[in-house]
Amino acid sequence: MNVPFLDLKAAYCEIQDELESAVLASLRSGWYIDGQDVEAFEQEFAAFTGTRHCVGVANGLDALRLALIAMGISAEDEVIVPSNTYIATWLGVSQSGATFVPVEPVESTYNLDPDRIEAAITPRTKAILPVHLYGQSSDLDPIIAIAHKHGLRILEDAAQAHGARYKGKRIGGHGDVVAWSFYPSKNLGAFGDAGAITTNDPELADRVRALRNYGSSVKYVNEVKGYNSRLDPVQAAVLRVKLKHLDEWNARRKAIAARYTSELAGTRLVLPEVPAWAEPVWHLYVVQHAERDSLQKALHEAGIGTQIHYPIPPHLQEAYRDAGYAAGRFPIAEGMANCLLSLPMGPQLDDACVTTVIDALKAAAHA
Ligand SMILES: *Cc1c(COP(=O)(O)O)cnc(C)c1O
Repeated sequence: MNVPFLDLKAAYCEIQDELESAVLASLRSGWYIDGQDVEAFEQEFAAFTGTRHCVGVANGLDALRLALIAMGISAEDEVIVPSNTYIATWLGVSQSGATFVPVEPVESTYNLDPDRIEAAITPRTKAILPVHLYGQSSDLDPIIAIAHKHGLRILEDAAQAHGARYKGKRIGGHGDVVAWSFYPSKNLGAFGDAGAITTNDPELADRVRALRNYGSSVKYVNEVKGYNSRLDPVQAAVLRVKLKHLDEWNARRKAIAARYTSELAGTRLVLPEVPAWAEPVWHLYVVQHAERDSLQKALHEAGIGTQIHYPIPPHLQEAYRDAGYAAGRFPIAEGMANCLLSLPMGPQLDDACVTTVIDALKAAAHA
């Protein structure tokens, strides 16, 4: 039996009628920018995350960039980022004009290590940007305490954490602003690019709202030099339908993760660790293995799709050569990049497929 890493079409087929009637209604509405589905989705996603404001934008990278600009971050400033994130987190900071300052993660949780943050703060530091990687929240309370102590703002990258909880409360309004991506493969994914920010701060919400629309809140009156980064109404219609299924889909991911965790215990795989305060939504189920490449090859030969998130840390990318970070500068991020492997995960992965993956891993992980 072949097990794909992720089957997006299966999710589509599960709710095909609902999705197609929503998309058709959007197409037939005669209204193709902003409008009712965008506003309704913003309200529904704000309610889902327990936040006062949601502003839809074109994608997750723009959500990060516009949030930073709305917070007043600019060329003289520094923003603390994880050393082991997806490159978009760093690109958002670069595009705001600020300088990113990487900090290493806690090895067992993959998220920003609060104990390493203060050493990275300088007089230019303006914000901390934790990422809730793989669907599990960062340890936010100590990060918020550091931010308060040093007068810094917090932007969270929640592109992988729709529905995740920290100490019982959903991600969305812990920091000043939270950036979301609805890229198709995320837990809540559109049929193309889409993103949003959530915040409890009405001024920040208004600023992002203006920035996404040429810097204008009143038609043909431009307060600031803005961008064109609006949430597409067809995508908003898709997201409204999918949001209704998100809790059920996240519960299914959790059940798959629970099987992986219990049935792969005792193998040579390093399994994900979930602290008591975290309720992850398992965007990815990431293991580590010393001979990752040969394990991935064995799984591939057995028909099992896996991926690596991520094979090259941002500081070693050609794109960031100008930052001048040599190999060895962030050893935790670099070490992980060599051992990480993401197993098949998704709400439509059935029990038989999960069993196939577990059996193949048990056969290979001992080899
Ligand atoms: C997907 C992702 C982004 C970027 O989102 P896009 O919508 O693709 O621009 C940013 N950060 C993280 C951690 C992501 O996983």
